[in-house]
Amino acid sequence: MRFDILSVLPELLESPLNHSIMKRAQNKGLLEVHTYNLRDYTTDKHRQVDDYPFGGGAGMVMKCEPIAACMDELLAERSYDMVIYTSPDGVTLDQHLCNRLSMMDNVMILCGHYKGVDERIRETYITMEVSIGDYVLSGGELAAAVIVDSVGRLLPGVLNDESSALSDSFQDDLLAPPVFTRPAEWREKKVPDVLLSGHEKNIDTWRYEQSIERTKKRRPDLYEKYLKG
Ligand code: SAH
Repeated sequence: MRFDILSVLPELLESPLNHSIMKRAQNKGLLEVHTYNLRDYTTDKHRQVDDYPFGGGAGMVMKCEPIAACMDELLAERSYDMVIYTSPDGVTLDQHLCNRLSMMDNVMILCGHYKGVDERIRETYITMEVSIGDYVLSGGELAAAVIVDSVGRLLPGVLNDESSALSDSFQDDLLAPPVFTRPAEWREKKVPDVLLSGHEKNIDTWRYEQSIERTKKRRPDLYEKYLKG
């Protein structure tokens, strides 16, 4: 799967996408991430990517021309399954959307900055607007990194133990059960006996029950969804 990410600060994407699982996914050739600095698509000598908002008010707005130039170039090279704009007013990213995106081949992501991008870019190029939650970030780069990480780890072959992604929270609208590692007793707190029993069926049942309990208590909204199937 290939991600092309357009940004005025691509440096912000380097660390989150070049370590651990994301690095391995790219080294294995399962995931490609290309970043583009929108300043490289400006034509003026100040390499200006933003301008004052029409109608006045605080903050700057990302200009149409550099974004259009970069997107036109990419769109001429390949077709994209989705052109995403990261935005607080988009659909909220959840595991279902991650699963859906993980089936795609080419996804473009535009990161906003300042007050956001000129609305006409959204109308012309964007096929999906995605928010990572009801709060405001200073730029879309962290949101893009969240999208690439949450989608990238679902690609077949990225996680060593393939069943691992399937047992994570949200995969079946349930939260994950608690996990423990050695030592079996720590500060007089014991690991539940069943996990030490080696009895696979009982362990599965215990984990399932814990998932149900946890979801009921912490996320009644999600539990409703689970019951509806
Ligand atoms: N004026 C905008 C916020 C701009 S924040 C508004 O009130 O809606 C600057 C940029 O950060 C946005 O253009 C967007 O790309 C990114 N961003 C901020 N919060 C985000 C969120 N919750 N999810 C995804 N992207 C976000």
